[in-house]
Amino acid sequence: MKTKLLLVEDEERLGVVLRTFFEKKNFSVDIVKDGEDAIFQAENTKPDVILLDWMLPNMSGIEICRQIRTSKSIKKTPIIFLTAKGEQEDKLKGLDVGADDYVTKPFSQLELLARVNALLRRSNPSNLDDELSYKKTLIMNLKTHRVKREGTYVKLNPKEFDLLKLFLQNPGKVFSRDQLLDKVWGNINVEHRTVDVHIRRLRKNININGTKDLIRTVRSSGYSLDIIK
Ligand code: CA
Repeated sequence: MKTKLLLVEDEERLGVVLRTFFEKKNFSVDIVKDGEDAIFQAENTKPDVILLDWMLPNMSGIEICRQIRTSKSIKKTPIIFLTAKGEQEDKLKGLDVGADDYVTKPFSQLELLARVNALLRRSNPSNLDDELSYKKTLIMNLKTHRVKREGTYVKLNPKEFDLLKLFLQNPGKVFSRDQLLDKVWGNINVEHRTVDVHIRRLRKNININGTKDLIRTVRSSGYSLDIIK
């Protein structure tokens, strides 16, 4: 699904440039040129992020921002101010009325994109947090506890699941058996052999149909999620 971006900008040329740029980056872009339209449009289309010009006819960006933050349906929408005003005081004013970030004109499109993406990650961590994956060959859903290897569901027992989760959160990092016992079992008084048994079963369960072995045994050290080059 495309990310919905609402651009509130009265400068037509800049609007066209940003629309072209963000559409290439797989955003859908709506442009409005004044405040009332901005609030109306935002409430109707529920954008994922709003880029808001500071100086606008009729209603200032500050006022628009304030109104968005008090609107029940859209108050949490991430907002980035676009402005020619680089003064510290203005920046603070913008953040004060609830903007999330601030970009000063002229800005680079790539910088703006980076800020937008950072904001989207911050504002909607749940989508990203629900899933862990490795190079698309292995996908773990943390909500449903389902794991897929090459598109096929595999069954893991709870400890295997926790082991795999730890590996996916730290690709390439080598964990000693003691560390695995501590992190997965919460107890280092369990025998090392227990780890080996679970790793063996985990391997068997995720390395299906001749797929590459994703668990690396590091001799005399422990185990890690193998990094595929
Ligand atoms: Ca303007």
